[in-house]
Amino acid sequence: MMDLQCKTNLADEYKAGQHIARILSEDWCTRELYCAGCDSDRLTRSRANTPSLDFTCPRCEQLYELKALKRWASRKIVDAGYEAMMRAIKADRTPNLLVLHYSSDWFVRNLMLIPRAFFTESVIEKRKPLSAKARRAGWIGCNILLGQIPQDGKIAMISSGSAFPKDKSERNSRASEGWRKYLRNCGAGQSTS
Ligand SMILES: [Zn+2]
Repeated sequence: MMDLQCKTNLADEYKAGQHIARILSEDWCTRELYCAGCDSDRLTRSRANTPSLDFTCPRCEQLYELKALKRWASRKIVDAGYEAMMRAIKADRTPNLLVLHYSSDWFVRNLMLIPRAFFTESVIEKRKPLSAKARRAGWIGCNILLGQIPQDGKIAMISSGSAFPKDKSERNSRASEGWRKYLRNCGAGQSTS
């Protein structure tokens, strides 16, 4: 089974919540995450020192972007730049999104996978430009409207603190089932061999 507790001692020297969340969720994902698209039981951190936390499957090369949240948001989540997101959608370059929800004692409560094909222009909401006083005045971010994504596009890998087994045979009947269903229905994504 997956170990759902983050190693809080790794963040002992950090004060800012943002930094702590990043360090702990990055470590947790490197230890516990597996690929939903194939039977690889790990993902590797793809690019260090980027604003987003990105992972790649070493076997099938699916890309995953992680968002770690303290508050579980079922309706929308804040994402990065609007223009960059629209360009990525048009060029079919969006990664699969993993939304991780942790509790105040750093226990992973929920982990949701949204396959990349579900990112369309209609699920992206343009935010108001940053005010003239902001450091990046005029910059426009976006929200991902989770409420607009159909249920088939929201695959639970961990739900209310209980993980689907990491064991391959077990896993094939659980989290990956959602993924395969998505591939069948959409005829999208990459081969899962
Ligand atoms: Zn894979």
